[in-house]
Amino acid sequence: MLERWRETLVAHGADTVYLADDPSLTDYDTDAYTAVLTRAVEHHRPGVVLLGSTALGRDLAPRVAARLELGLTGDCIDLMIDDEGRLVQYKPAFGGNVVAPIFSRTSPEMATVRPGMLSARSPSPGRTARVERLDTADLPERRVRVVSRSGGEAPSAAELDSCEIAVGVGKGIGGPENLPEIEKLAAALDGAPLAITRSVADLGWLPRHHQVGLTGRSIAPKLYFAIGLRGALEHTVGIRRADIAVGINNRDRSPIFKQVDVGIVGDWAEVVPLLTAALEEARAAR
Ligand SMILES: Cc1cc2nc3c(=O)[nH]c(=O)nc-3n(C[C@H](O)[C@H](O)[C@H](O)COP(=O)(O)OP(=O)(O)OC[C@H]3O[C@@H](n4cnc5c(N)ncnc54)[C@H](O)[C@@H]3O)c2cc1C
Repeated sequence: MLERWRETLVAHGADTVYLADDPSLTDYDTDAYTAVLTRAVEHHRPGVVLLGSTALGRDLAPRVAARLELGLTGDCIDLMIDDEGRLVQYKPAFGGNVVAPIFSRTSPEMATVRPGMLSARSPSPGRTARVERLDTADLPERRVRVVSRSGGEAPSAAELDSCEIAVGVGKGIGGPENLPEIEKLAAALDGAPLAITRSVADLGWLPRHHQVGLTGRSIAPKLYFAIGLRGALEHTVGIRRADIAVGINNRDRSPIFKQVDVGIVGDWAEVVPLLTAALEEARAAR
């Protein structure tokens, strides 16, 4: 497992990989991981410390920042190095209506970044790198014992992270009884996974794992269908990296039409079956 991570990091550009190899670190433990990362930052003095804005990263980053008395910008959606070499940390503010550039006053600059917002470098499998071991001596004793594991997200939602086509569903489809019609379209698009707005997640029409946007996933399909959804910024921030977006909405003044490449004004219940039939016909003719 460690070897696979090392290979991935090196292939994607790491020149040095720091390895914390200790059996007590196999399962995430807040205290032990905090100790290892705090020591690593103190010892190696990096210019920037970045963690993913995942459940783990959101737990770990503030603790490490507090131990080191560093500022922390949480949940960035983009990063840039400015002309003065400072890290510009972009973070949505005021419910996503503005994106604020944040500069750190402390060093190293420290931030968590939302998964899916930055494109990974293309891997170069032939690369080599130094491997340095981190100090894992005298780690704090585990205060939490895992007694069982259950759940996990639906595999169809996980597909959103790497899919080529995604079908986005908003409250405008009317109710969960209409999902089968959307699923027919998704099937005609080679089984594209469904993305949903927060309104749809709040109504419980599909599990929240499918939610895309500010407080959901960020996805990068080649083609995104936005069906019966308004195009609130909090949703569309999650599809910023989609190549082509198609919006279907019955209101010609809907904000979605300012954010998509192709807009279809009409009742989804009429447009979607026509689209599905055309795709199925095209597939049969292939
Ligand atoms: C802090 C914060 C975080 C948020 N995070 C997220 C997030 O991560 N993801 C997210 O999605 N939202 C998020 N939201 C909510 C967001 O602001 C919107 O409320 C939500 O995205 C709207 O969902 P919707 O477009 O499905 O519903 P609505 O706003 O109700 O829009 C429904 C749309 O369907 C259209 N429609 C109705 N009938 C039809 C029909 N027959 N045919 C075609 N179109 C039709 C309507 O014209 C309308 O445009 C967040 C909000 C806040 C404040």
